[in-house]
Amino acid sequence: MDCIFCKIASGEIKSSFVGENDWFVAFDDINPVAPTHVLVIPREHVKSLEELTAFDDEVLKSLFDLVDEIVRSKGIKDSGFRLIVNQGSDSGQEVEHLHFHILGGRKLGRLG
Ligand code: AMP
Ligand code: ZN
Repeated sequence: MDCIFCKIASGEIKSSFVGENDWFVAFDDINPVAPTHVLVIPREHVKSLEELTAFDDEVLKSLFDLVDEIVRSKGIKDSGFRLIVNQGSDSGQEVEHLHFHILGGRKLGRLG
């Protein structure tokens, strides 16, 4: 499958992970919109939040544990951050492989 995030997750495209566990990897966004802009993606090609809910609770918990680990290591846990999923055309989603944006490091504007 020709998916750039699958290639990053598998290591076919070289990237420096800022966090990882058995099910997810995290790396800096190539075109950051905030001082901290990290993407967290499932290692598998998951296309939607609905598909992700088919995974065990343990997997879903590990996602939020990883987010917590990343915001601590990036030093934005106390200052605040935003966790975003773009899904579907109205959201402006560009990459089909499900990904969670973590944004922080500056005052963020209103959503939308
Ligand atoms: P979205 O609009 O939610 O689909 O976001 C896709 C994000 O992926 C954008 O913020 C892009 O800057 C980012 N992106 C695309 N290709 C890469 C890449 N090779 N490495 C890191 N981030 C990427
Ligand atoms: Zn993929």
